[in-house]
Amino acid sequence: MTSIDNSSFGKEFMNNLINRNPGEVEFHQAVHEVTESLLDFIEDNPKYKNAKILERMSEAERIIIFRVPWQDDKGEVQINRGYRIEMNSAIGPYKGGLRFHPTVNLGILKFLAFEQVFKNSLTTLPMGGGKGGSDFDPKQKTDGEVMRFCQSFMTELSRHIGSNTDVPAGDIGVGGREIGFLFGQYKRIRNEFTGVLTGKGREWGGSLIRPEATGYGNVYFADEMLKTRNDSFKDKTVTISGSGNVAQFTTEKVTELGGKVVTLSDSSGFIYDADGIDAEKLKFVMRLKNIKRGRIEEYAKKFGAEYHPNKRPWRIKCDVALPSATQNEINKEEAELLINNGCICVSEGANMPSTPDAVEVYLKNKILYGPGKAANAGGVSVSGLEMSQNSLRMSWTREEVDGHLKRIMQDIHSTCVKYGKTKDGFINYVDGANIGGFVKVAEAMLAQGLV
Ligand code: NDP
Repeated sequence: MTSIDNSSFGKEFMNNLINRNPGEVEFHQAVHEVTESLLDFIEDNPKYKNAKILERMSEAERIIIFRVPWQDDKGEVQINRGYRIEMNSAIGPYKGGLRFHPTVNLGILKFLAFEQVFKNSLTTLPMGGGKGGSDFDPKQKTDGEVMRFCQSFMTELSRHIGSNTDVPAGDIGVGGREIGFLFGQYKRIRNEFTGVLTGKGREWGGSLIRPEATGYGNVYFADEMLKTRNDSFKDKTVTISGSGNVAQFTTEKVTELGGKVVTLSDSSGFIYDADGIDAEKLKFVMRLKNIKRGRIEEYAKKFGAEYHPNKRPWRIKCDVALPSATQNEINKEEAELLINNGCICVSEGANMPSTPDAVEVYLKNKILYGPGKAANAGGVSVSGLEMSQNSLRMSWTREEVDGHLKRIMQDIHSTCVKYGKTKDGFINYVDGANIGGFVKVAEAMLAQGLV
């Protein structure tokens, strides 16, 4: 396989990208990984190289950056920065989440938007790629403050989105509460009730299974990977990071399939419960995180589990690891630790949680490794199904949506196998997802001319 270092096209492309997007390290990292997978494929298919498809795909169609002024409960004026990256609309309206977190910046959102293009293509649904958000931190804010921020954010964003143009959803820091405030403001400004956001409440246009979709989808994907080795989640010990939306429903589905989840975390530390986080304990986590908005440390106090402040859970022995918090949360040493402790499968609920040298460790050791753009595509898939239901003005049952989700995750797995199987039978899911996601978008761009 050709690597960027020994390809003149690859080197020149990456140098240009870094020069044109200085300091945006996460964006460079995401594009580098995809380019490495695509080099041979693009050499074999000169039509993509001649039309500069990769160069065009790594330049956003449009980037919107805006001021978000709002007033806190003390009457003090606060100012945040809002963003929407409209990355690629070759196969459908821009689609991707909004992230509210103090670490948000242009480079992080560009990496997420770039990944989203490939992810959405893999889902088989007609969705382009986008991402947005703000450096606003919803933690320790009152509901009133979050509402005023969301209203101000949407007042500007509403000019740029629409049910046939760009359809945002949630991500870190944007859950049901925030989507509600954003949707309310959009409706008020435009005077239309439309499927402009996904992740809505069930009573006002939301889809059943949307909250569960990313976590469930990741477990379905990991299960497909395990099946290729005649294995399953039954009796597996599983470590999970994060304790938000994705981590919660990943825990629920793993437990349902007979696995035992022993860790959860937040940005302050992780808990280790050797007895497993069963359905009752998970209910406590959901209340703690979604209603009380407290810290995961309280789990350890309540159930007598271990709490490790400022640490990540990857030192704990497990069979399967499902990172579900944030980017670059597993480094090379932690990847080696996982493998030395017997881990056979890493499947990413979060976006880009493994650093590039951690990914190298997985591939060198030939474990089952599902990269985020394939493994966590369940969330956006059910968002796509929410859009379909909104257009039809119909709601499907839980079983119908879950059935679609399972089938989509199986299809994504098959695409990865099709494009990622190597001569010795090993499935390189990184190459599989990158090439599989690329082809559909590239063909659409070729057909649509220079736009
Ligand atoms: P939530 O906000 O619900 O939860 C995020 C969790 O990750 C929290 O426990 C949070 O802890 C922790 N976390 C966030 N940032 C950091 C950080 N810098 N360091 C350590 N821990 C951190 O978000 P989601 O569960 O929705 O998202 C989790 C991941 O899954 C993200 O990478 C997201 O992009 C990805 N994803 C989400 C989808 C969805 O449908 N929601 C779809 C596809 C991917 P704390 O509260 O202390 O910050």
